Amino acid sequence: MTRLLRPLALAALPLLGACDLLDDVLSEFDGDLETRSFSVDSSDGKARVDVEIDGQETFQLTATSGQLVAVEAIYDPDGELVLYWEDWYGNESLTGAVWLEGRDTVLNWPVRSVDGELSAGTWQVEVGVVDNEGYYTDATVDAVLKLKQDPDLSDGVVKARIVYADGLMQDEVVSAGVQAAVARWEEVWGPYGLSLDAGYESSAYSTDQAFPGESGEHEDLAQDASGSEVTVLIAETIDGGMDYYGIAGSIPGTLDHTGRALVVVSWLANAGGDGSFSDDDVRLFGETLAHEVGHYMGLFHPVEMTWDYWDALDDTDACQGQGDCEGGLGDNLMFPYPVCDWTSCLAQDQLTDGQTGVSHRYTGTL
Ligand SMILES: [Zn+2]
Repeated sequence: MTRLLRPLALAALPLLGACDLLDDVLSEFDGDLETRSFSVDSSDGKARVDVEIDGQETFQLTATSGQLVAVEAIYDPDGELVLYWEDWYGNESLTGAVWLEGRDTVLNWPVRSVDGELSAGTWQVEVGVVDNEGYYTDATVDAVLKLKQDPDLSDGVVKARIVYADGLMQDEVVSAGVQAAVARWEEVWGPYGLSLDAGYESSAYSTDQAFPGESGEHEDLAQDASGSEVTVLIAETIDGGMDYYGIAGSIPGTLDHTGRALVVVSWLANAGGDGSFSDDDVRLFGETLAHEVGHYMGLFHPVEMTWDYWDALDDTDACQGQGDCEGGLGDNLMFPYPVCDWTSCLAQDQLTDGQTGVSHRYTGTL
């Protein structure tokens, strides 16, 4: 994931009361997952989304508008501020929801155990709507809330919908490589109480894929996802080459049907560019799948490659510089790149308790 700097400093405005609902809340259930869809007015440049909690463990809000949107604040039912965007705009990352990245934003709450549990009552998420001039005062924000009822946050199932780009499912090298990599993915997740429920589809989508959200194909693809499925598109190349093993739509990723509702991976980059999978390539490919879907579930790199940005977890080493970071975190699943010598790459399959907790609090982990 690339970081985008927030283009505008958003000034704090006083709270103006409750959610400005424009229509009725549509609610539907799919097992332990509830979906509520509604629209909210943002006459002062902020959409206030009410989240009624009655026994759910986590929620995910996807807010979409014609303008740029980002989460500015979360208030608990007592009106206490529990997240303010500026606190997470420095060198520690908690959620990509506070970044102004586009016309949609995705928040999963809570993220960590220290963020507390969801108490019963009405939570409120403030979403800022801006254009190049500042706050945009006449927008409608479409809100899709997903809420999960799943008291066991140590044992969870993630559904992955693995979609092959045009012709790749019929390519025996690719399909055998994907199957073997998925087995490695399950092996990496297993010790942390995460199980994978994978389904496979062929498609006619292009074998060279754009970044998530930068192709009309991604919106079409998202329309066919259902329930808590995370879509993983198996491409040959990303952005015309092999610079990327894979890219997640956002951190966290949405369970709604937006154009960024997917992870894209390049099978050819993971195969090392020679068109065949060695055992090491398979292991790397499996770890790439677990890593990218890990981003989708809300995990950041424990440290970025510039060595001056870290995740918000207190049990991932706050290392300094390349040598220190490779030494302390090189075997972590979310390390930003594979650590290799002349003969092989280090297995990257470790998650801390903090990272495991984030994965289980993802609303799609049921
Ligand atoms: Zn990454």
